[in-house]
Amino acid sequence: MSSAVRVRFAPSPTGALHIGGARTALYNWLVARGRGGTFVLRIEDTDRERSTPENVEQILDALRWLELHWDEGPHSQSARAGRHREAIDRLVSEGRAYEDEGAVRLRVPDEGSTVVDDAIRGEVRFEHAAIADFVIARSDGSPLYNLAVAVDDLDMGITDVVRGEDHLSNTPRQVLILAALGAAPPRYAHLPLLHGSDGKKLSKRHEAASVQELRDRGYLPAAVRNYLALLGWGFDAETTFFTTEELVERFSLDRVSRAPAVFDEKKLRWMNGRYLRELAVEDLTRMLEERIGRRGLAPAVAIAQEKMQTLEEFWPLAGFLLERRELDERAWAKVMRDGAPERLVRAREALAGVKPFAEPEIEAALRGLVEEVGAKPGEVFQPVRLAISGTSISPGIFESVALLGQEETLARIDATLARV
Ligand code: GLU
Repeated sequence: MSSAVRVRFAPSPTGALHIGGARTALYNWLVARGRGGTFVLRIEDTDRERSTPENVEQILDALRWLELHWDEGPHSQSARAGRHREAIDRLVSEGRAYEDEGAVRLRVPDEGSTVVDDAIRGEVRFEHAAIADFVIARSDGSPLYNLAVAVDDLDMGITDVVRGEDHLSNTPRQVLILAALGAAPPRYAHLPLLHGSDGKKLSKRHEAASVQELRDRGYLPAAVRNYLALLGWGFDAETTFFTTEELVERFSLDRVSRAPAVFDEKKLRWMNGRYLRELAVEDLTRMLEERIGRRGLAPAVAIAQEKMQTLEEFWPLAGFLLERRELDERAWAKVMRDGAPERLVRAREALAGVKPFAEPEIEAALRGLVEEVGAKPGEVFQPVRLAISGTSISPGIFESVALLGQEETLARIDATLARV
């Protein structure tokens, strides 16, 4: 029991859960699940002004959506102030720390070094000569960040600290505090930085920088987990798609890279599209009906599924199958030139004669017309698409026309021709 792995995710709840934090949470969760360990959630809420209940709830909400369930917690760091105080008092009474103008500083040895054996970065050496006696408590008695983290990791029996590389410089201080408390440090693993596709450090300026945004845009949690897992880790050079069970089985910290990883939403989109296509139509329909708040979407979903990469794309792509919409002026300008209105008149005639009004017959009629007028397929199909959808992008044209039905298709073509 005592040798079991215990990891923690320790966010500071200052707003939404960002991509980097989500990856840290996922990696911790994978370590716990893969090794029969415990995933502890600790909310580092000592900044009382920014750690509002809403901000805490945002983090929990994002973790729940990602389906990264924690086994213990959420523990509140601020609620542990008494324990932090005790540790500070003990360090002072044992001569390992001392008061300085009301604040308390840890005594750092003048010589030697602290070596962190990082699971990802290998041995990282910090010379003590470069670390001054640092403050562990302010003059009002409140603990500093490194003290709180070290004491919490100790009390919570954390065996492995997996966190962002930006915390590497804190690590020797936390190890020194633990040593002064007579405790062995946990194992550390510092994850590579995340960059945006522009090569700059990932920040709020980048497109979808938070889990909340990803959810709103209609990504699937399983696709996001798969994509986040690959931001720094890989099983081999080829494999891109992993079910969550496969991730749990295969993930290990020794395959995490030191080089910065790039968050590229285009790649996530592509991956999400694959996940969407693998859903049963009924499941995808249920998700979309819930999201959009209307029913009866199944037929439209069935023909749009192939072309969607996110849930958000469904309505712009396929909403015309459920209601008429305004013509997009730019699409109009692009499509309705060089004889397009005449071809649309011909397409109307052809479609008016189709019986039964089903996909193969519709396809035969429109392809026949392409032959007859000696046009490129798109020169006939795009005006029809514009007329029925209002835009130049839609699911397959024959399927779409079939689903709309003859009367509605002809009515929309007439309305379009009336504008010419
Ligand atoms: N609270 C810190 C953060 O949100 C993490 C501290 C840690 O993982 O040690 O960046």
